[in-house]
Amino acid sequence: MPKANETILEIDFKALKHNLEYIQSKLQKKTKTLAVVKAFAYGSDATEIALYLQNLSVDYFAVAYINEGIALRQAGVTKPILVLHPQAINFKELIGNCLEPSLYNAKIFNEFIEASSKENQTNYPVHIKFNTGLNRLGFSENDIDFLMSKLNKTTSIKVASIFSHLAASEDLNETKFTQNQIKSFNIISENFISKLDYKPMLHLCNTSGILNYPEAHFDMVRTGIGLYGFGNSEKENKHFKPIGTLKTVISQIHTINKGESVGYNRAYKSSDITKTATLPIGHADGIGRQYGNGKGFVIIHGQKAPIIGNVCMDMIMVNVTTIACKEGDEVIVFDPKSTAEHLAEQANTISYELITGISQRVKRVYLK
Ligand SMILES: *Cc1c(COP(=O)(O)O)cnc(C)c1O
Repeated sequence: MPKANETILEIDFKALKHNLEYIQSKLQKKTKTLAVVKAFAYGSDATEIALYLQNLSVDYFAVAYINEGIALRQAGVTKPILVLHPQAINFKELIGNCLEPSLYNAKIFNEFIEASSKENQTNYPVHIKFNTGLNRLGFSENDIDFLMSKLNKTTSIKVASIFSHLAASEDLNETKFTQNQIKSFNIISENFISKLDYKPMLHLCNTSGILNYPEAHFDMVRTGIGLYGFGNSEKENKHFKPIGTLKTVISQIHTINKGESVGYNRAYKSSDITKTATLPIGHADGIGRQYGNGKGFVIIHGQKAPIIGNVCMDMIMVNVTTIACKEGDEVIVFDPKSTAEHLAEQANTISYELITGISQRVKRVYLK
C-alpha cells in the first residue's frame, strides 16, 4: 500500500470482491444481486465501484436519486439501475437515461405514467414499493385496487418488481417484527401478482436481511453496507473486509505547556506538557465535530491518538504525547483493523454515517 502524503481514501477492490462473494455464498443460485451504490457508493466512489461490479455477478444497481443514476450511465454503467427515491421533476432525464423508478405513492405513480406516456414509452420498467412497517415510503395493501385500475388503463409502464424494505433486520431483538414484515410482504405481493397477468421480481432484504433472514431472499437481494465491508454485528464483521482506508499525515507537531489551550474556543486546556499533532482533515472532510474533545481518535504507528479540542473545518489536533512520531508521518483514521464502525461508535453513530460523510474533497486512491 502506498504511504500517504496527504489525506486519501484508499479503496480496496479485492476486499469488495471478497464481500460480494461472501454475500453471494448466502444466496441460492437463482437469487439475483442488486448492489446499492447510492451516496457515492457509501462514500467511496459510485462510478468506479459500479464499473468494477458490473463485470462481476451483479444483476442490478440502485441509487437514491436520479442524478446519481445519470452519473453512472455517463460513466458507462449499462446494467439496470433502480432509483429508490426519484423526484418527478427529473422524470424526463430518468427515462432518457434508462433508469428505473421506485414508485411508492399515488402521486408519483400518476406522475410517472404521465411522463412515460409523454415520452411515448411502452412497458417502461417500474418498481412498486410497499410499506410493511418502516413507515417511510411505500403503498399499502389497500392501494392494490388503485394500482390495478391504473395499470389496466396504460401500456406505458410495466411492473418489473415489487419490493419493500426491512426496518430492523440487524436487530435480533426485533425478529418478531421482521418476521411480520416478511409475512406482510408475502401477503401483499401474492395479492398483487394474482391480479397481474405476469410475474414481477420480488425483493425485500438489505445486507442484514440477507444474513439473518435466508427465508426472505425472494428473487433478488439488495446489498449496500456488506459490499463495503460491514456486517452490522461482531459475528458477521469477521466475514467482511472493509474496503476503505482513510489515511492522512502529520502536518505539524507542537509541544505546549501546562495551561495552554489547543484550537478554537480554547476547548482543550492542557494539564501538563503535551505534544500535539495537527492533521489535514476536518469536518469539511467528514470528521464531524462530534468526534472532537476526546471522543474520536486516530492511529499513529499503531497507537491511539485522541482528537483534542474542537474539530476545525480543515484540521484536527490529536494528542501524541506518548507516541514517537514526526511531521510527515502517516496517520490512520480508519482501516480494516481500526474500523470506521468502531470510530463511529465513539461518537454514538453508525458506520453508514461516517463512511458516507467522507467528502468528495478527499482524494480517492484505487487498489485494484
Ligand atoms: C440503502 C438501502 C439498501 C441497502 O441497505 P444496507 O443495509 O446498506 O445493505 C437496501 N434497500 C433500500 C431500499 C435502501 O434504501
